[in-house]
Amino acid sequence: MQAIDVLLIEDSAVQARMIQQQLKSVPNTEFNVQLADRLSAGLEALDKHEFQVIILDLMLPDSDGLDTFFSVRNHAPTIPIVILSANNDVSLAAKAVEEGAQSYLVKGSVSGEQLARSIRYALQRTVAGHAEWDSPMFHLAQQQFLKAAHIMGLDDNVRQRLLFPQRTLVVTLPFRRDDYQQVETVFGYRVQHMLTMGPTKGGIRYHQDVDLGEVSALAMWMSWKCALMNLPFGGAKGGVRIDPTVHSRHELQRLTRRYTSEIIGMIGPDKDIPAPDMGTDEQVMAWIMDTYSQQVGYSVPAVVTGKPVVMGGSLGRKEATGRGLVYLIHEAAAHVGIDLQHATAVVQGFGNVGSNAARFLEELGTRIIAVSDVSTGIFNPNGLSVNSLVEYVEQHRSLEGYPEGEEISNKDLLELECDVLAPAALQNQITGENAARLQCKMVAEGANGPTTLEADEILGDRGIFVLPDVLGNAGGVTVSYLEWVQGLQNFTWTLEEINNRLHKTMTDAFHRTMLRMQRDKLDMRTAALIEGINRVQQAKLSRGLFP
Ligand code: NAD
Repeated sequence: MQAIDVLLIEDSAVQARMIQQQLKSVPNTEFNVQLADRLSAGLEALDKHEFQVIILDLMLPDSDGLDTFFSVRNHAPTIPIVILSANNDVSLAAKAVEEGAQSYLVKGSVSGEQLARSIRYALQRTVAGHAEWDSPMFHLAQQQFLKAAHIMGLDDNVRQRLLFPQRTLVVTLPFRRDDYQQVETVFGYRVQHMLTMGPTKGGIRYHQDVDLGEVSALAMWMSWKCALMNLPFGGAKGGVRIDPTVHSRHELQRLTRRYTSEIIGMIGPDKDIPAPDMGTDEQVMAWIMDTYSQQVGYSVPAVVTGKPVVMGGSLGRKEATGRGLVYLIHEAAAHVGIDLQHATAVVQGFGNVGSNAARFLEELGTRIIAVSDVSTGIFNPNGLSVNSLVEYVEQHRSLEGYPEGEEISNKDLLELECDVLAPAALQNQITGENAARLQCKMVAEGANGPTTLEADEILGDRGIFVLPDVLGNAGGVTVSYLEWVQGLQNFTWTLEEINNRLHKTMTDAFHRTMLRMQRDKLDMRTAALIEGINRVQQAKLSRGLFP
């Protein structure tokens, strides 16, 4: 039997003795517990011995509160920490979990078995976290989830189960460059976060920064998003670590077909249905559908959504994410007190989501004063013409050199004075560093994960309304669902029917989230996450645990 080395930092001799006795009584696991009765003694012990886990009381004679946690973590950043909390101090312990502690236990109310289980979970998660999952984006998704889980009192076992994806596949795949002799080998991923509610659903991203952590975070957000919108899917996501802008169409086609072959066992119309995300589009979906269909021997349009209309794609899918975002900006504007007919907006990212959001905002009378893409930003306080921008990008592949405005950096663009700021490019754009300088009334998240936890707090304190990603950009998966249903039924709906359903689904979810936000005094993101997670919890508990 392998022993687990535990450092227990606790000043109460009674509590310490109780924990030591409890751990001694756990069958089949031996715990070597070393006790330190103050912070300084704990840090000394960490210098002398390599522990596998730390159990930490935050209130010590020589340190208290989160400072205790930060001191220990900075001293031993790779060792998992389980917080020991007094009954009246649970919110402090939860805060430590938000900051990166693995878990917390309430003194006096845990059995030896629960204590041992928390230690085992902490070890398991740390091992997993050291793998490719150790990414800021996955950390953000997990911390957001843990915060919501704590507030809603999520069942402990369900919490552990949902913190990591259920299935992940990492592949390496070769493809030929246009110069036939050269072969490139790249990494690809497909992650299914949760399979409880039906088939899984989620986009495929081509970007040079894609890794397992990023794809897992996006898959987790898909789970909450689908549940929030009442769609019968679990969350998934895929990606290839490649910069699509430096490859020809032929190369992207070969890469896509090979990636599809590598993940083919995981996808299918009843299993897992990909869609476009950053760096992929209708054409990529058409290649995936064709490759899958060639393998099974007949056409299976419902294996992907976001494909060209001529192949069974849905009317309205291409612009659905931007359209859905604007439906909700319209709802939120009434709450925030913005008159969109006389408002200004700034959009970061001018791809599928950004350009469509700009277009629909312009249709409502809002002046688009700045947009950007990876190449540059364009600012014109008198308003930009979205049609002319779209035409320019079609011709030149980027905004660079667009004549009817001044150049502005992506960083400065976020800080422009405006009513609505819509980040619709990458994650991690609004951070603790710039959140205090934002000059908008509303942040409408088209992108996934554009705002860090720290920034969320700053925006909250400043009274800036945040339309969170899981709600704001859910229009894409909503019309993807409608496309999937049309595909399974071999039946098509009109654009008007699609947009009416999209509008109803989005505004229903918005008002449910607003109600929860106001009733439980939450921020909008936490309210949206709880709406989604709650539904997943109910489904998990009704299905029970196999075997
Ligand atoms: P896209 O590839 O069509 O467009 C991305 C845009 O962002 C491009 O204009 C690109 O130049 C720009 N960009 C890239 N890096 C940038 C940087 N560093 N700074 C500024 N701009 C940068 O992608 P998309 O489908 O519009 O996706 C954008 C975001 O929306 C992503 O976070 C994606 O996950 C999210 N999203 C997309 C959908 C969808 O249906 N396509 C649905 C939900 C969420």
